[in-house]
Amino acid sequence: MLDILVRGGLIVDGTGNPPYPGDVAISGGRIVALGRLEGAKATTVIDADGLAVAPGFIDMHSHSDLSLPLHPKASSSLSQGITTEVAGSCGWSLAPVKKETAGSVLRGLCEGLMGEVPGGLDAESGEGAPDLGWYSFDQYLEHIENQGMGVNLYPIVGQSLLRAHVVGTDRRPATPGEIRAMQELLVACLAEGARGLSTGRAYLPGAGASIEEIIALAKVVAASGGLYTSHLKDESSGVVDAVAEAIRIGRESGVRVEVSHHKAIGRANFGRVAETLTMMEDARRSGVDVTCDVYPYSFAQVFSLLTEIPGISPSQSDDEVRVLLAQEEFRQKTVDQLLKACASENGAPGFLSRPEHIMLISLGASHELEGQPLASVMGGFALLPSSPSAPAVGAPDPATIRALVDRLLDFLREQDLRVNLAAIMAEEDVVAVLGQAETMVGTDAFTLDRELGGRTPIHPRHYGTFPRVLGHYGRDKGLGGLAPMVRKVSGLPARKLRLADRGLLARGMSADVVVFDPGTIADRATAQSPYLEPIGIGWVIVNGRVAAKDGRPTDARAGMVLRR
Ligand SMILES: [Zn+2]
Repeated sequence: MLDILVRGGLIVDGTGNPPYPGDVAISGGRIVALGRLEGAKATTVIDADGLAVAPGFIDMHSHSDLSLPLHPKASSSLSQGITTEVAGSCGWSLAPVKKETAGSVLRGLCEGLMGEVPGGLDAESGEGAPDLGWYSFDQYLEHIENQGMGVNLYPIVGQSLLRAHVVGTDRRPATPGEIRAMQELLVACLAEGARGLSTGRAYLPGAGASIEEIIALAKVVAASGGLYTSHLKDESSGVVDAVAEAIRIGRESGVRVEVSHHKAIGRANFGRVAETLTMMEDARRSGVDVTCDVYPYSFAQVFSLLTEIPGISPSQSDDEVRVLLAQEEFRQKTVDQLLKACASENGAPGFLSRPEHIMLISLGASHELEGQPLASVMGGFALLPSSPSAPAVGAPDPATIRALVDRLLDFLREQDLRVNLAAIMAEEDVVAVLGQAETMVGTDAFTLDRELGGRTPIHPRHYGTFPRVLGHYGRDKGLGGLAPMVRKVSGLPARKLRLADRGLLARGMSADVVVFDPGTIADRATAQSPYLEPIGIGWVIVNGRVAAKDGRPTDARAGMVLRR
């Protein structure tokens, strides 16, 4: 007796070869037979008549290692057919941490991304150790394994964590001794199961590193056969240089490189991906294993304008915030803080120095303005410098800043505090990147088992990414046939990740399977309603167990950590 028999579907096996009709037999967590299996009996029989049967989708870029302690069922991921996620991205992971800084590092990461923190971090433990039960990479992996999880996790370690551990938060080059210490820490993480290293070249503290420091770490990863993923140092005007840097890291260290969520932000940079895609192609021809992934949307991370205003915190109620926004004293304080920021090393917040790159995503009242650039409602204020040395803009005077602050805070009041923003990309660029044969797909999301509370907006990619790739782009826009698009989200990433027993439907492979309707599969999540589940996903099987039935995630927690 088999565990599961998927009967009468169209087998799209992940290789890119033409689909064929047949049955898939699963037992003991593995695919044991494919083809016409007359008379086979199973505990669970899935009628896949008229449906496609494919390998579970592999998410090349997620932040689910941050959310799994709070959202272990991975409902959002399973609802879109994901069975394996690469996590530990953009230089961030939840380990390794040390006693002295664990509290602040982990609280910063969890609160920054999700607006909530795991239980052991609730108490204001200052710099002391939180009661989460992990410090080392191994302890963290054990923690989430013990909880159980809905999807498989392919864990990589974030370079910011290594740097926070050894160098601290200083933005200075590491000493040779510190580089050796980070290499040793990385060796330990790899030995404990990490599959590679990620950097967030734009984010502190990791961004303090020189390219030589990154290459020194990448050599350690290469020696272990691991993967290096890069959130580039610049995704707008400097994107070409940034891709060149990622390629150089691959060439000089020998590591396999994955450029994360590839895009060119801002109108002035639309079209630049044509150049970066060619650079990566040329690099591959010359022997560097460099590829990229993309999420299928023309806007980036969604953020609330309110969280960008100094002096506003998530713990304040909406009523308290309304009172503050009306206060003269609060406005003056905001002006002072912005003036200070403009004179500092980092300059004004990015959304104010480049308001034409930022789109109004969702608003509390003026829905007709959704989709317009932020600059269009800001009353034409002069641009603020992104750094004191930025040549185009002089140092702003207090009166300019005051006018800007008044406009921003008034706008927040007009929109009843709900002003959600995101940086924009060109639709043509999304198509160019996604359409490239070697490009893979990453959500840049994290697992969600329920809606986030507070004022944390989420991007529709949490629920929509893979159905949007297969439905909207693959089928409706004709970007690729069913078999090539399925390969893009299964066989291709499995090869890059060196997951020898996943990503394909074949005898002996781990039974990660998704059954979906290729005619109707579609995303429904939007910027305004980001929690809408997709349609067209039927059954999801993770390691031979039913993880979603009729598109509804179960609480099987059949996932595992895919340790090195
Ligand atoms: Zn990133």
